[in-house]
Amino acid sequence: MQAMQVKNDFPILQKVIYERYPLVYLDNAATTQKPRQVVEAMTEEYYNVNANVHRGVHFLSQQATELHEASRETVRHFLNARSTTEIVFTRGTTESINLVASCFGQAFMKEGDEVILSEMEHHSNIVSWQLLQARQGIRLRVIPITDDGRLCMDDFEKLFNERTKIVSITHVSNVLGTVNPVKDIIRIAHEHGVPVLIDGAQSTPHMPIDVQALDCDFFAFSGHKIYGPTGIGVLYGKEKWLDSIPPYMGGGEMIKNVSFEKTTFNELPYKFEAGTPDYVASTGLAKALDYVSSIGFDAIQAHEKDLTAYAMQRLMEVEGMKIYGPHLEEHDAVISFQVGNIHHLDMGTLLDRLGIAVRTGHHCAEPLMRRLGIEGTCRASFALYNTRQDIDALVDGIRRVSQMF
Ligand code: PLP
Repeated sequence: MQAMQVKNDFPILQKVIYERYPLVYLDNAATTQKPRQVVEAMTEEYYNVNANVHRGVHFLSQQATELHEASRETVRHFLNARSTTEIVFTRGTTESINLVASCFGQAFMKEGDEVILSEMEHHSNIVSWQLLQARQGIRLRVIPITDDGRLCMDDFEKLFNERTKIVSITHVSNVLGTVNPVKDIIRIAHEHGVPVLIDGAQSTPHMPIDVQALDCDFFAFSGHKIYGPTGIGVLYGKEKWLDSIPPYMGGGEMIKNVSFEKTTFNELPYKFEAGTPDYVASTGLAKALDYVSSIGFDAIQAHEKDLTAYAMQRLMEVEGMKIYGPHLEEHDAVISFQVGNIHHLDMGTLLDRLGIAVRTGHHCAEPLMRRLGIEGTCRASFALYNTRQDIDALVDGIRRVSQMF
């Protein structure tokens, strides 16, 4: 894969920051940039197709509906789900996780029942369950991590008991880059008769996902982290679970018949899609997935592995560098680091003055920060359009900042 050529698909990457520095965009774990193909498809839909989807008898509505449902099929294919009935469009990973916590919780959890999470979860996979805790008195059980940022799998097994109702865990840590052994986690949970939700926000952009091979019960991801638009995401759920949990929100689309006495709900997946869906964003998401597929995960993984290895090697040349997370083999394209005692906010702000975009802070993972005994980190995260030159610019930038202190 030629990352330099790929860069041409992303107009924003040509930007010059502070009228001086070419943009070095290394904040991809927060959100990725969008290729022309995505933006143009969405513009085209607004210009030539726009109409509300489903049940419209007129030409535009039918065309918009066809596009929207074709996008669902693209997502199904991307995840290798069995059926489009298992693909629910949401606003993103956060909404997908909240949906499961709320609806699965309502159907299957009562006071004292337990959900197993890990110490490296994003706030969206902690607070959603705490809301359920406040409503229904459930308990959160937490898998500890090792000092180098891997799950303690022995402790995981010991957390199961007759009150365990679900495991909800991130595939890839947005801070440490740890790739969790989700296949083993799912197998172990299933041996205990417990379903598993995988937070795929950080894995879908970097590795092929096959929900049938994984055998996960739910899988959540966000469009904007995989070169698609903001405001759209996906919840995959096995049909048997989606069928057996109540709807999340009420409104249009999700009903079959409504009366003041009794309302019946629509079939899957519409039962979970109350209100007008973002049918233009679904087109954008499908285009983004097509874009990724056209490059192919073999090429993407080879490129990103090379970049991550190169970045680790180059960063370690910097005096006072500390990198968090596991060794390279288990490390995805996210690197959290700290240089000497330079505050991460100072480092990030000064790198920005050189046109280098990294993220600083707790990365929506405060419990993990507490476990690591730190307030925050600087985080560089890579995408398919990043190059070794971007890494060189980062390392040079860090050196320049370090010299100021
Ligand atoms: N889970 C993980 C691991 C994440 O990294 C993020 C976002 O950074 C989320 C969940 C939430 O994603 P979103 O804000 O797109 O809903």
